[in-house]
Amino acid sequence: MFLIFGLRSKDKFLGSRLGHCEVCGATAAQSLIRRTTKFSLFFVPLFPVRPARYFVACTNCGRLRGAAAHEMAAA
Ligand SMILES: [Zn+2]
Repeated sequence: MFLIFGLRSKDKFLGSRLGHCEVCGATAAQSLIRRTTKFSLFFVPLFPVRPARYFVACTNCGRLRGAAAHEMAAA
């Protein structure tokens, strides 16, 4: 008998707004993304193994950076 298990991360698009990118310096749409990581058994995600993390992605340069709490409320 063998087990197939692992961790699977999934991104969910929450919305976007116009903002200033700290990386490329351009004013472009910034997408807010929520990433959850779940333990999976036989490719079936079962339960989260860590709290959800939030990221902001720049649509101009594609760079991801961590989002602060006040940015999540604004989106
Ligand atoms: Zn950028």
